[in-house]
Order: sequence, then structure tokens, then C-alpha cells
Amino acid sequence: MESVPFELDTLNHLIACHPQLRAKTLADVEYNGKLYPVIRAELGCTNIDVPTVMFVGGVHGVERIGCQVQLALMASLLTRLEWDVQLQHLLTRVRLSFVPIVNPVGLIRGTRCNGQGVDLMRNAPITSADKVTFLVGGQKISAKLPWYRGKNGMERETSALVDYVTSLLSTSSSVIVLDAHSGFGLSDHVWFPYASSQSPMDKIGRIYQLKQAFESSFPHHNHYRFSPQSLIYQTHGDIWDYLVAQNPKVPFVPLTLEMGSWSWVKKNPRQLFNFAGLFNPQKTHRYHRTLRKHTVFMQFLMDIAASRTLENLTDKQLHKLDRQAYQLWYE
Ligand SMILES: [Zn+2]
Repeated sequence: MESVPFELDTLNHLIACHPQLRAKTLADVEYNGKLYPVIRAELGCTNIDVPTVMFVGGVHGVERIGCQVQLALMASLLTRLEWDVQLQHLLTRVRLSFVPIVNPVGLIRGTRCNGQGVDLMRNAPITSADKVTFLVGGQKISAKLPWYRGKNGMERETSALVDYVTSLLSTSSSVIVLDAHSGFGLSDHVWFPYASSQSPMDKIGRIYQLKQAFESSFPHHNHYRFSPQSLIYQTHGDIWDYLVAQNPKVPFVPLTLEMGSWSWVKKNPRQLFNFAGLFNPQKTHRYHRTLRKHTVFMQFLMDIAASRTLENLTDKQLHKLDRQAYQLWYE
């Protein structure tokens, strides 16, 4: 008998204790006769035409640390709001949005895919024109193999997230996303579209500007490797690719945080014998380090959104930044 994962309990507890969180169920997903919700919670300014910063986790159920990083951020912000006047002021100018558990059934089952065997990050209706990385790039052969794209259009979890982000894009002056994953390589990566194409996304200069602002403002917190995802591997069906390809009318910067979990394995090789251990730190001190490691970057995303730096770039500035981005990542 499945129990409710503690991350979902934590989220429900935060919502029950903090009435200022505006929570809504985006979809209910059935598993073994029970329904599990995909929940979004918002905080801060309710006006339209303010910047939104969105924190997403648990697209891949086995990567629990992604949910936990986002829930830890939510808990910290809600506590700080009791006394932190700067944060209170920030939230009069910015909307925060959280979907910390996109794939609750994957979380219960300890799988990357959802209850139907579909990898949600291969499930969006976008197909690469190029030859993608075999299997990892997404496959339609069988739900029994990993990275399955599904055969029935978008899964409930995928369309819930896509519809919600689309609504945020129509009610915000800009949207920055941080979608937390784990399991790739030794370093912490920050990836952005496209995953499906070797071509740069439109207005890639905004991402270059964000990277430069972070690296120059926080040089000792710069442990991230920024790159278009296709430079690492190429896939079909990426949700963020799909949303970027819809040509949103406002600046849209979807970032994927890939926490380098192999370093946890390297330091504790016994994790290799435990599937979840490949994706999540097992030792307490490493777990706490992971939860605090990204707070500077997350706070930076909220602050740069509030500053409207990316929204206010002139065409001339953006053109120059596009060229610099192109030189860095595509030449
Ligand atoms: Zn992932």
C-alpha cells in the first residue's frame, strides 16, 4: 500500500499553515485507485504585468531532491516573510509560483516516469528535426524502456504544467523558471532551450545577460555550468522547448537546474546499489549542503526579476547580447 510521500505532506502542511499561499490543484493523477494532486502555490503580487519567478520540482519522480530544494525554499521564504522587510517589499513587485511536485506518482513509485511509464520531459508535442541521442533522447518503442515519450498526447501532469505556465505568460510581464533535477554528471548545470535543436533560441541574449549578472555579482557562488541543453544531449518532447516554441509575447527564461549527483555517489559509492541514491544525497551533511547550495542563485532570480533588467533591455542591447551568446555557445 502506497503512502503519501512526505514531500506532498510537507507541501500540504505549508499550505495549511500559511493562508497567504494561493494554492490550487492543477490536475489529479490516479494511481492504484487513489488520486494524487499536482499542486501549484503562488505568493506575492497578484497584479497582472508583474514579473513571475517560478520554481518547479519533481518532474522526474526519482529525483526527490528537486522537490525538497523547492519545498525548503518555500518554507524559508514563508518564515522570512514574518520579519524580512526587504522580502516583503520584493513580493509587492513580483509573483512567485511553485509547482514542487509535478509527478507525485513517480515520487511514490520511485521512478523517473509517471504512473503510465511516460517520461514527462519527453512528452511535450515537439519533435526534434535532428537525430536525437538514442533512447535518452526519447523513444516511442515501449513504456517498459526509460525515456518513453508516450503515445496518447500529453499526459495529465504535462498538460497541467504547460497550461499553467501558458496562463502565467499571459498574466506576467516576464517569466523566469527554475526547474530542479538531479542525476547528471559531477557539476551543477543550468540548461536552457533548445533541447531539441542545435539552433539558438530566440532572444538568447537574455540568458547570457542573466548569466553575466550572476557570475559578476556572485563570483564565489558561481559553481554552475550554463549551456543550451542540446550541447549536452539532444531530446524530443522537452516541456520548456515546447513553451519557448509557442513564441510567448513576454520575456521567458526557462532554466533547468541539474544538480550534479554523481559527486554524491563518488563520495559514497554504496549509493550505486540503491537506485534513488543515484539521484539524491544520502548522507545528512550532504543533504543539508544541497538544500543550502542553491539559495543564493534562487534569491538572485527573484531579485533580477524584480529589477526588470531582462525586460528593459533595448533592441540594440539585446542584439549585442544575442551575438555574445552565439559566440559563447554556438561557435
Ligand atoms: Zn530529471
